[in-house]
Amino acid sequence: MLSVSQAETIIFNLVQPLGTEKDVEAVTLLTAIDRILAAPVMSTLDFPHWDNSAMDGYAVRYEDVKHCNEQQPAVLEIVEEVAAGREPQKTIQPGQAARIFTGAMMPVGADTVVIQEQTQREENRVFILSAPKRQDFVRHRASFYQAGTVLLPPGIVIAAPEIAVLAAAQCTQMTVYRRPRVAILSTGNELITPDRPLQPGQIVDSNQYALAALVAQTGAEPIQMGIVADEKTELEHRIAKAVQTSDMILSSGGVSVGDYDYIDQILASLGATIHIQGAVAVKPGKPLTVATFSNPDTSSSRPVLYFGLPGNPVSALVSFWRFVQPALKKLSGLAHSWGPSFVTARTCHDLGASDGKRETYLWGQLYLVNGSYEFHLVTGSHSSGNLINLAQTNGLAILPVGQTSVASGTQIQVLQVGLPILHLN
Ligand code: AMP
Ligand code: MG
Repeated sequence: MLSVSQAETIIFNLVQPLGTEKDVEAVTLLTAIDRILAAPVMSTLDFPHWDNSAMDGYAVRYEDVKHCNEQQPAVLEIVEEVAAGREPQKTIQPGQAARIFTGAMMPVGADTVVIQEQTQREENRVFILSAPKRQDFVRHRASFYQAGTVLLPPGIVIAAPEIAVLAAAQCTQMTVYRRPRVAILSTGNELITPDRPLQPGQIVDSNQYALAALVAQTGAEPIQMGIVADEKTELEHRIAKAVQTSDMILSSGGVSVGDYDYIDQILASLGATIHIQGAVAVKPGKPLTVATFSNPDTSSSRPVLYFGLPGNPVSALVSFWRFVQPALKKLSGLAHSWGPSFVTARTCHDLGASDGKRETYLWGQLYLVNGSYEFHLVTGSHSSGNLINLAQTNGLAILPVGQTSVASGTQIQVLQVGLPILHLN
């Protein structure tokens, strides 16, 4: 049986991120949020664009004011008022100053700004009451970034600060990776859609919707392929179709050892290479199949990834969080931080429910309390059939292999999933 970390290594190594010319698209400032930048953004402008004042005050020549003080102020003639957004019209000569405001362009001849608190004004004259340092409060052209430098590298998520950078750089259209397409199939003769009346023995397909939501949350495009009966020809047909239309396929159900669990056979008959089959030492989520198909676009070496997830809704979600989500993030072109995120937290409950043979994930809530993380186990059954209990989960406490229980108060590792970390006020 593979360990979780062995399975993770195999999976992450299979992922070839988007990266060809066909894998990008253009978006605008209004549609770029949360997308992944696919090409560096170069600056065509200097930042700041010109020497400008960092404060409201007076633009002066340092030589005129360098020895002044309150007893012997420098007295300068105000020849111009420069508001932000205006180009100064005058050159500051010895004995002259310009009234200037924050962000306004420095007039030629002036090299220093004296803040207005250090001055006294009398009509068109200003008294400088304290000697500034040379170049005080001047933001020099290109002192932050020069034209031609890289402002944003590829592989980063575009969030609000990046949108501001792009707008400031007059980059109104940018290249991002297209959203990976993820086909989702639910397999099982017992499954019905949520809008159908429930007949004896049937089960409502919740995985289709939960997985689609998780895929969309990860920035990818879910392609919902519905329910497929446990019927070889139909399964083969749908999986073959999914390979043609997607970068990744998620099926749930049919990967266990039951008589109707056909997925592995079908993958083999469709020519997939199976990398993980059957058992990963994880609870919930033990039956897991990972396979690759060669890309139907023969010019691409990137395989289509196939995850055969367990049918059990809790197992399907936990497997997604632990293995699929990081793989999908890596596939999306994210250069950093696509891996799962773990925090160290103090458990506020005893954690059991493990035979010590499999890495066990127990769901609950992760809180930040006075700067430290706390894990609160969801009460009730942690059976992988108990889907309802998973609501509001934002953390999965991990019991490593070899450990059957952990006492309340112990520091544990928690996989951060779903909702943001909560706060106890
Ligand atoms: P399987 O892996 O196909 O043996 O399914 C394991 C359990 O999960 C069975 O109780 C199934 O009825 C249930 N199950 C399978 N697929 C789904 C689904 N898409 N939504 C909800 N439950 C499912
Ligand atoms: Mg089944």
